[in-house]
Amino acid sequence: MTKKNVEKVRIFALVGHGDAGKTSLAEAMLFDSNMTTRLGKIEQGNTVTDYDPKEVKRGITINSSLAYLDWKNSSFNIIDTPGYLDFIIDTRSSLRVVDCAVIVVCGVSGVEVQTEKVWEYSEEFQLPRVFFVNKLDRERADFNRASEMIKENFGQNAVPVQLPIGTEENFQGIVDLLEMKAYYFQPGKDGKNQIEERDIPEDLKDTAKISRQKIVEVVAEFDDEVLMKYLDGEELTKEEILTCLKGAIVEQKIFPILCGSATKNIGIESFLDFITNYFPNPLELPDIVVNDIKEGKETKLKRDVDAPFSALVFKTIADPYVGNLTYFRVYSGELDSDSQVYNSSQDIENKVGKIYRMQGKEQSAISKVTVGGIGAIAKLKKTNTGDTLCDKEHPIQFKRIEYPEPIMRIAISPKSKGDEDKLSIALNRIQEEDPTIQIHRDEDTGETIIAGMGESHLDVVMEVMEKKFGVEVEKSTPKVGYKETIRKQVQAEGKYKKQSGGRGQYGHCFVEFEPMERGKGFEFVDKIVGGVIPKQYRPAVEKGIVEAMRKGVLAGYPTIDIRATLFDGSYHTVDSSEMAFKVAGSLAFKKGAAMADPIILEPIYNLEVVVPQEYMGDIIGDINSKRGKIMGMDESGKGKQTIKAQVPQAEMFRYSIDLRSITQGRGAFTMRFSHYEEVPPQIAQEIIEKAKQEAESET
Ligand code: GDP
Repeated sequence: MTKKNVEKVRIFALVGHGDAGKTSLAEAMLFDSNMTTRLGKIEQGNTVTDYDPKEVKRGITINSSLAYLDWKNSSFNIIDTPGYLDFIIDTRSSLRVVDCAVIVVCGVSGVEVQTEKVWEYSEEFQLPRVFFVNKLDRERADFNRASEMIKENFGQNAVPVQLPIGTEENFQGIVDLLEMKAYYFQPGKDGKNQIEERDIPEDLKDTAKISRQKIVEVVAEFDDEVLMKYLDGEELTKEEILTCLKGAIVEQKIFPILCGSATKNIGIESFLDFITNYFPNPLELPDIVVNDIKEGKETKLKRDVDAPFSALVFKTIADPYVGNLTYFRVYSGELDSDSQVYNSSQDIENKVGKIYRMQGKEQSAISKVTVGGIGAIAKLKKTNTGDTLCDKEHPIQFKRIEYPEPIMRIAISPKSKGDEDKLSIALNRIQEEDPTIQIHRDEDTGETIIAGMGESHLDVVMEVMEKKFGVEVEKSTPKVGYKETIRKQVQAEGKYKKQSGGRGQYGHCFVEFEPMERGKGFEFVDKIVGGVIPKQYRPAVEKGIVEAMRKGVLAGYPTIDIRATLFDGSYHTVDSSEMAFKVAGSLAFKKGAAMADPIILEPIYNLEVVVPQEYMGDIIGDINSKRGKIMGMDESGKGKQTIKAQVPQAEMFRYSIDLRSITQGRGAFTMRFSHYEEVPPQIAQEIIEKAKQEAESET
């Protein structure tokens, strides 16, 4: 493809809070550009970009999905993204690979939690951004209120470049503040709206003038010469405003606010024009810092059609509806179908068969994909989200996409016993596709733990396991990794003697047990003098103690932080054996631990919560009610506070849900294991009772 063609490309993501209308906006854009023949509806489950049955069932976007369209003389690559915290992975990956973010805001609710989140991500990736205030046809929609909220949250450089004409059900068009013209959208014959250009209505003239002045003020600053002219009170030419506006958008000095209604198809064509005129093409953004693998240092990658090929994988899926696919965005050069591609992150070469262009779930084969293009290839071997694909002769690596830590954990097991292998295959595949899922086996409790971004995220994962991999799984709250220890120094005798007929068994030891400092684990000391227990049997005593420690005397939890000193015993020349001394060791432990004032320990985690100032009180109250200890507080900028605390694991399995409900989703937290502490007596009693009941029900 020539450079000229690449200059026509615009690649952007639709992001924002769930329900703001991202999918509907994509649908309207596709309809207006004649890519579809009807305007799909969320309610009817027939939109182009929400096609997965999991999405149709829930009426929300779970996976990012792709669309493309041609508009006048340009072509757009669009990624429709999920708007819920649980599925943030796709939103973050999508923002990482586009050139612009369209932040869709609901005209009724205005700025919401996820609006803030996508703004933060876009800022991190230094993306040009525009706002689209949607749903202006709805009752109680208010463009001014939404714009004010945008400014309050994201600064005064968010500036309306359009005004709505009419409100709620009378919403009928927009004033273009750059052209200073009004456009009315009226239902036409073919389902499309007829657009009529008129003068700005009288009642909006003054507002339009003031609003335009604001645009001029902000964009003039982009160019010194233009700024001088502006300060001298001269009128700027249309050309000057347009050039400065585009430059200011690219450099993120202005964030235009546009408006419309996706479902009534009002303002969409104007929005498409705006994208064509003001969004940067894939060659216009700054070079990207990447790692040059041969040189072993950072280098700058030019966004150039004639340069060696490079692309970043932003999604990998195994899906019965679209097959196994690897999605990537091209930054330089091009990739031909039926060729080879090198994955520099995994150091593996892959054959490329067909390359597809995706329109929702529909794939069409294309002969090559070039700068600014998004390609999908039947799943490449060993290729994961975040990997770099490039020319083997010019190996580079993009910085990896970083993902937030998972915040909710559940324990899972297959419903039928024979399904363990199937489950482990499914889990591997799921983890490959979704880096916000973490899976591990808890050594203490023996459970398989799966951690994700929230309840819905984990529900979807369970559904995928069942529908896609055919394993039904049961979920439960993970068990707490309790431990036991002792508090007193005691001496105990362990004697195992069976000497009735035939070869007998004889093992006999005296062991002193004493508590050690938290975190010290276990220590065995051999203080036998004069061979009262021969050397070869002493390690067996240790083995016996260690094995018995795995099931503590109070509630069957592993015993930790004790020292066992073997100081006396006896043996029998014929009947003694390693086995007998092992049993003796274990008997000594059981007796000793029971006398040594045993207690139950629970895992304590370091918790860090970041919340807006106003939730501080509630957060602290909640941590106290969870038996937590506040360790400190810090201001972390932008009106947010970090609260540090230590909390018992037992109280924290549903914290992501609690925090979300206290802060309406505005809080974030991380948790790391810190140490073990004694469980309060009343709770210890409950744990012991429960263990007893479980032991009884097992026998
Ligand atoms: P997303 O979650 O941001 O992708 O939002 P959707 O496109 O799924 O839309 C959420 C709901 O809002 C659906 O019921 C849509 O029909 C509705 N909706 C979207 N855009 C508009 C609009 O412009 N006007 C009205 N009245 N409803 C809309």
